[in-house]
Amino acid sequence: MTTVTLMIFIIGLAVLAAAMIYAAVSYLRFYRREHFTCPKCGCSFRPKVLKMIFSVNAVEGKIIQCPNCGKREYMEPKQDRQEE
Ligand SMILES: [Zn+2]
Repeated sequence: MTTVTLMIFIIGLAVLAAAMIYAAVSYLRFYRREHFTCPKCGCSFRPKVLKMIFSVNAVEGKIIQCPNCGKREYMEPKQDRQEE
């Protein structure tokens, strides 16, 4: 492997690692401090990790299914309580 190929390989790995860390941090933040609120029935919930990962990302939130009424809606994460 030439130095340039190795450099590209390492940069690629670094970018991949950074993307994974970013995703992990955002999921951790969600599970520690945030939840979704269903616009149809008002139910507050945290979906399972696998559902979070495979749900459709849209703008700030996700298209996710409510466990209470079963509706698939666009929801944005909400803070559990205001931090001041
Ligand atoms: Zn609902």
